[in-house]
Amino acid sequence: MAETLRIAIQKSGRLSEKSLEMIKNCGIKFGSDARVLKEAATNFPLEFLYVRDDDIPAYIRDGIADVGIVGRNEYDEQAIDLTVLRDLGFAKCRLSIAVPHAFPYKGLSSLQGKRIATSYPNILGNILKEQGIQASFVQVSGSVEITPAVGVADAICDLVSTGATLAMNGLSEVESIYKSSAVMIGRKDMGSDEKSQILDRLMLRLDAVMRASNYKYIMFNLPEEHLDQVAHIIGGMKSPTVTPLLEKGWVSVQTVVAEDTFWDDFEQLKELGAQGILVTPIEKMTE
Ligand code: ATP
Ligand code: ZN
Repeated sequence: MAETLRIAIQKSGRLSEKSLEMIKNCGIKFGSDARVLKEAATNFPLEFLYVRDDDIPAYIRDGIADVGIVGRNEYDEQAIDLTVLRDLGFAKCRLSIAVPHAFPYKGLSSLQGKRIATSYPNILGNILKEQGIQASFVQVSGSVEITPAVGVADAICDLVSTGATLAMNGLSEVESIYKSSAVMIGRKDMGSDEKSQILDRLMLRLDAVMRASNYKYIMFNLPEEHLDQVAHIIGGMKSPTVTPLLEKGWVSVQTVVAEDTFWDDFEQLKELGAQGILVTPIEKMTE
């Protein structure tokens, strides 16, 4: 029987939807009815295993799955020896220290001798150790933010994306100590050449999808005299396509710009007289 690669995906939660969307964008077809435990793609040798995110690193280590998508926080906390194949860039969050408003926080050293509630004792422990700070950990797996109010902890260390939950519980986020996003992890040794090849094919597609999502395709009309300045602004691109318009002295420019700098570029283009700026997403992009 031909080999298939088995990927573990969070069954339901913050990682599920985006993980499946990314794989779909790789042109891989599957039912994606996450209520089932297991399913196979119909046009690629890939099998999905839908599980709790906490279980994914151990499943990979034990060979139940070959690769998986988890938050970097989960992977680092468990410290299971695997390899990070890609940072997928979504599910961005930070691990932060938060304290009640009355806590006189002056930096990590204020945590000396305090009780800190967290689900991440390893990540936090390593950071405090580096600073020579000793604290005791109250390990909780959920509702970390209520522990100071009920007198169980003096401070907390928890994942934050917007900070709204902290504010609701009368806590101030005082320091961010660690950043996380979703990562694709796998065993260091896939165990068979065929599996490694399937993984390489998947990675090639994933890279194209990720590259595309970091860029936008833009088209606009521009007074020809500003072409040099514009080329300077959108310097990253090697060869914009420039076509003359019927109206003398005007050209149409088409190029690819990075998502990161998009709004800065956009404003500068407008200042240089760019008109009819049209922006479209890119579905896939190879090097
Ligand atoms: P499961 O039932 O699978 O164990 P869970 O409750 O542990 O789910 P989620 O809350 O779905 O997990 O979070 C999964 C991951 O999403 C986290 O490990 C983290 O990497 C990421 N994440 C992004 N933003 C946040 C946030 N604001 N709070 C918590 N996790 C976040
Ligand atoms: Zn979990």
